[in-house]
Amino acid sequence: MVVGLGKTGLSVAKFLAGQNIPFAVVDSRERPPALAELREHCPDAAVFLGGFDQPAMAVATHLVVSPGVALDEPAIQRAKAAGARLLGDMDLFACMARAPVVGITGSNGKSTVTTLVGAMAQKAGVKVKVGGNLGTPVLELLDADAELYVLELSSFQLETTELLQFAAATVLNISPDHMDRYPDLAAYAGSKQRIFRGNGVMVLNADDPWVCEMREMGRRFFYYGLDAGHSPDYGMRDMGGESWLTVKGEPLLRTGEILLKGRHNLSNALAALALGDAVGLSRAGMVEALRSFRGLDHRMQFVAEIGGVAWINDSKATNIGACIAALQGLTGKAVLVAGGDGKGADFSPLADVAAEKVRGAVLMGQDADKLQAVLQPVVPTVRVADMKGAVAAARDMAQRGDTVLLSPACASWDQYTDYAHRGRTFAAAVQELRP
Ligand code: ADP
Repeated sequence: MVVGLGKTGLSVAKFLAGQNIPFAVVDSRERPPALAELREHCPDAAVFLGGFDQPAMAVATHLVVSPGVALDEPAIQRAKAAGARLLGDMDLFACMARAPVVGITGSNGKSTVTTLVGAMAQKAGVKVKVGGNLGTPVLELLDADAELYVLELSSFQLETTELLQFAAATVLNISPDHMDRYPDLAAYAGSKQRIFRGNGVMVLNADDPWVCEMREMGRRFFYYGLDAGHSPDYGMRDMGGESWLTVKGEPLLRTGEILLKGRHNLSNALAALALGDAVGLSRAGMVEALRSFRGLDHRMQFVAEIGGVAWINDSKATNIGACIAALQGLTGKAVLVAGGDGKGADFSPLADVAAEKVRGAVLMGQDADKLQAVLQPVVPTVRVADMKGAVAAARDMAQRGDTVLLSPACASWDQYTDYAHRGRTFAAAVQELRP
């Protein structure tokens, strides 16, 4: 039974059809997004819509659950109790993949590091396939010629992954996210830790206490981090008045040569280097990739400079960890544009960094009240209805030399199709400010 008919569910159905494995599909929605495509590719597939609680669930031997569906759905738990096995698309992939796999998870930076390791492999002349939670679903990546797979995994995907073992894997960081789907931070971290199943190289962020806890004795591991006090294998050091990325203390590349913006991206660069070393990519290829990779859209993306004020689109900052990292990495003051669906997060850790870095906050969306309660005691705040209003209010607050930063600390679904839609709306409103 394929549970959930979005992009992942569709890729699972197509895979099963290609393998002549009989299956059916179930979705809680009346009109799931991939229905038309399923009918086109698998016209004979049985499809049950409008709820998971279907009689057909009782005869399923395996449930292939999409990451968007919570495993504690009563219908799923009943099927499990009746003997059905739960798995995800990653496990089907694991049965078929014949090349080493690099796995990347964490609260923030997954897509950036996954894309960067992919670019490093390409520059190193390796036939690489990149995807997973980002871009192409894993089952569509399968390729007999591939020499390496680089996969991004969400905590939800890891919950249903039992078989896949990584040649090298990392948890980049743990900060509160999806607290509407986990009882506490320990449970969320626990699902991420599943990426270290097996015996591959562990790439660990020495600066993140949650990640350090995950180290297992007897395993090969690399530490990376920006804080020299933690003595990481992959670190950063000042030499001759310049800052360098280092490997075991040896300089590798000037940080000034890296095009990615923000201090957190130097940490991401170190993680990518450690992962690349773990699977034997050439250093020359990796360094070339670091010199040319500009980063992904909607992550600390420069939009414009107008009247001495820089406008940055960090719409992909959908949790407080990403927003804090964005603010910490800025020089000077920021006008912060934030708000949306906070996914049950506690925003209070924002107060300290806001007091130091934020000139004023422009708040919008479903959880604007919660954000305002945290920020109002430390910085001026204004409430707006939409992005046009937000950009106008931010323009009024910003002073020459400031940055206006869209880094919402929230998901976008209450007002936008997704984070990219939110980012585009912001960039369009900023362009209208031009004289
Ligand atoms: P993910 O795939 O985990 O969501 P992205 O690379 O898409 O990660 O970045 C998501 C957000 O997190 C962006 O706002 C980005 O600026 C921020 N970010 C990226 N790397 C880090 C990091 N190492 N620590 C904190 N925030 C980060």
